[in-house]
Formats: sequence, structure tokens, C-alpha cells
Amino acid sequence: MASAGSNPSLKMSADTTEDARPAPWQRAATGANLLSPEGNLGVTIFEEMTTLALSTGAINLGQGFPDEDGPAEIKAAARSAIASGANQYAPGKGVPALREAIASHQQRFYGLTPDPDTEVLVTTGATEAIAATLLAFIQPGDEVLTFEPFYDSYGAIIGMAGGKHVTAPLLAPDFLPDLEALESSFSSRTKIVLLNNPHNPTGAVFPEPVLARIVELAAKYGAIIVSDEVYEHLTFSVPHIPITSLPGAGERTITISSAGKTFSFTGWKIGWLTGPEHLVAAVRTVKQFLTYSSGTPFQSAIAVGLGLPDEFYTGIAATLGHKRDILAEGLRAAGFGVYNPSGTYFINVDTAPLGILDSVDLARRLPGLVGVAAIPVPVFCHPEGAERTRSLLRFAFCKKTDVLEEAAERLATLKDRL
Ligand code: PMP
Ligand code: GLN
Repeated sequence: MASAGSNPSLKMSADTTEDARPAPWQRAATGANLLSPEGNLGVTIFEEMTTLALSTGAINLGQGFPDEDGPAEIKAAARSAIASGANQYAPGKGVPALREAIASHQQRFYGLTPDPDTEVLVTTGATEAIAATLLAFIQPGDEVLTFEPFYDSYGAIIGMAGGKHVTAPLLAPDFLPDLEALESSFSSRTKIVLLNNPHNPTGAVFPEPVLARIVELAAKYGAIIVSDEVYEHLTFSVPHIPITSLPGAGERTITISSAGKTFSFTGWKIGWLTGPEHLVAAVRTVKQFLTYSSGTPFQSAIAVGLGLPDEFYTGIAATLGHKRDILAEGLRAAGFGVYNPSGTYFINVDTAPLGILDSVDLARRLPGLVGVAAIPVPVFCHPEGAERTRSLLRFAFCKKTDVLEEAAERLATLKDRL
């Protein structure tokens, strides 16, 4: 397995800048054994940057969480669920109302018809859905293919499950894979293709030909497709296509989503997955021993959320699209090269036009320099990918408009402070 240790651009440590070993979150992302002598229980890049933002008073455009709560009726539903006594363990697979709401949502938006009893599983955030799915299917030595950059928990869980993490690059400016080269990342040991669409951190939304090629290759190599679609409703003028809706995909695909993103309740940790019964049953078995069940009153509340009218869903995408435009303009004015995202709430910029080639170093200094925190993209990569993305920095725009405007003003002063 590739290690971040050999990459000079990843020498940042949560504890000391003198420490040449990768930071704890880097070891976790490469699947290092955190209890080994070289290991060190530590924090993720998100936790690290949020702590830095808090200690410096910086505007936190690092960790992706909204600074406004989601719909009042969903909060009211949670309060009323608590008041009415929905406070003990939920059924392991999720409260029936939420499983039914998840199935209806799949039908309403995608024409999919999962059985709420056997083909839906509620999880403690998408994070648990990812962990339980990978733990259910990976045997030591199995290969798991992700695109790169990849969301940090993928590397950590693949490592914990004893899998081998293989990556296929997403290439600027569109951050889509090279479809000709993609087959070279598959092998007879490929057990899972784990994709994230819309994609964090790049903001790419995979079009149908890309998805079709992934399905074709997964079928050819007998791999399970795991599709993390937590940003399914956060796309701008392009449709989100669930990979499971493509011909040949349904029987081999687990689809993951989360209320955190769609409804702006990241702290509630309600996620779910859908897929064919035999796959969902295996994941359910693992989930029983991770958390057994997930927050009962929040589940009922999210069932209410999933039933909100279409206008809610189009509204969140439109509002976020406007925020994207505000931040993108500010970042451009600050002198960064801006990659306009088609989805998610993240913008990637190239720091090279400002003469900065190391985004890890810049991320560490940015809160002190101008009072804004961001996430360096190389931390979502193995060494080769980290080299390719060395000058990329990710900003979150799920913040109030005036906060984004203030951040833009601060960033505009960066070129004079370098
Ligand atoms: N997958 C991706 C791609 C994410 O960006 C996140 C972060 N929110 C998660 C999974 C985790 O979601 P949750 O907070 O529901 O566990
Ligand atoms: N998904 C969020 C992000 O990418 C962070 C979630 C977390 O802190 N684990 O910023």
C-alpha cells in the first residue's frame, strides 16, 4: 500500500512541524496501524483545520459544514419525536418511517424502487455506511479502487479492513477519469470500486459515459460498486445520475447518502444506503456490531425532511449555486486559479498563479496570514496524486453570504502578505 511517508509535501504534523513523519490523519488515510509503534492516535485534517480556525479566529472555509441550520419543520419534528418518547434504540435497520421515506425519495427523484424492508439500511452518517460496507466485503489483500483525490475516510477504512487501496486519477480541469486508461486500475483482485459522485473535494459530477464505463469495468472484473452520493442534491445546472440507475449496475451497487448534506444537519449523523438485498444484508450484519442502531428521534425527523416538496430541493441547489459564484469571484480576484465545481459545496483553487506551490504549507499559514482556513487537496491523495495536486486548495462555500464576502475581502489581501 502506498504510504504518505515518502512524500515530502506531506510532512505536516498535527503535533510538531519538526516531526518528519506524516501527521496522524495522513497515517489514517493510508491505512497505517494507529496502534503500531509508529502510529499515533490523532485527528483528521478537518478536525485539525477547524481547531486552527478556532484558535486563530479565522473564517472556517475548511471543514465542510453549513453555518445555518436546515428547515425548521425538520427541527420541530425532532423535538416532537423526543417529546413523544422516541428515545430508545431504533430497530437496527432503521425506523420504518425513514426507510419508507428513503425508498419514496429514490422513486421520486430517480424512478428507483428499493424495498424499504430489505434494500434500505439507515446508518450513523454516511461515514458508518462507508465503513460497514467496506468491512462487510473486503478480505485482507482485496483491492479497492477509488478515484484520487479521495475522501479521507476511504483510505482509513480500506486500511483498517486490510484491503489494498488502488487509485485512478481525476484530472484537471474537469476532474474526470481518463476512460481509456481506467481499465489499467482494475485487476482480478478488484473487489470494490468506491466512487464519490458528486465528488469531494473536486466538485466534479460524473456524466453518464463515465458512469457507464465504471459499470462496464466493474461487471467485467466482478467488482461491487459502492457509490457515495452524499451531495446528490447539490449540483449546479447538471443532473445527478445515480450509477445504480444504469443498465447492469443495480445488482452490484450499494448507494450511500446522508441527511447531513441535503438538510444541513451534519451533527445529527443520519445516513443511509440502498442496494440489492444480499448486499444490504451483509452490510447490516456489520452495522449491528459498529453502532447497532442510529439516533431514533433524528430518524423520524429526517423522514419528514425527505418528504419535503421538490421546491425545497431545487431551492438548496440554487442558493448554493449563488454562494459558489460569490466565493469563486472572490478567489479569482485574490489571484487564485479557480476550478468551478459542478456539484458539492467545495471549490478548488490553484495557488500556483500566486507563486505558491505547496498548498499544505499555505493551508497551515493561511489562518494567520489573512484569517481564512481551507483544506489542502494533497491530503486526499497518495504520494503520486499529492504531487499532481500539490498546489490545490479546497474552500467550502456552505456559509452565509456575508461570511463568504468577508472571506473574499480577506483573501484579496493575500498577495500583499506573502
Ligand atoms: N462522504 C463524503 C464524500 C463526504 O464529504 C462526507 C462528509 N460529510 C461524508 C461521506 C460523511 O458524511 P456523514 O457526515 O453523513 O457521515
Ligand atoms: N465531509 C466534510 C468535509 O469534507 C468533513 C466531515 C468530517 O469532518 N469528517 O469537509
